[in-house]
Amino acid sequence: MLRERRLIDMSNTLYNEIINEHNLRPYHKQAPAESDLKLEGVNPSCGDVITLYLKTDGDVITDGGYEGDGCAISQASADIMLDMIIGKSKDEALHLSDLFMRMIKEGISEEEKDELMEAGILESVSHMPARVKCAVLGWRTMREMLGA
Ligand code: ZN
Repeated sequence: MLRERRLIDMSNTLYNEIINEHNLRPYHKQAPAESDLKLEGVNPSCGDVITLYLKTDGDVITDGGYEGDGCAISQASADIMLDMIIGKSKDEALHLSDLFMRMIKEGISEEEKDELMEAGILESVSHMPARVKCAVLGWRTMREMLGA
């Protein structure tokens, strides 16, 4: 609670709105009716857990969802990620994951940030080392799931 409070104080309004919106009204926080991939990701340093489900058809991710428990950043980031990767090929999803990891860890160009669309809002997490593992949990789990 204290940690979330401090986070809100140091962040901008748009960031807060997006994180809150994805926590209050997540689009993808449920197991899809059908899935062929399932993997649990854990971030012990914060206590975040997500179980990620993907449904694939050949090379394309046709549906997905997650179940989980943890801080607002970890859950919102997974929700935003699913929004972005459903309908994409596995290669495209991995490319977005590369961009996201690089944005958080070393920084990316404005053009690359445009590619990340809403996930680009999480760039400010790169200035909060303790929250990096929260933000990348969903993406890391997806990479592992796709064998990358
Ligand atoms: Zn967390």
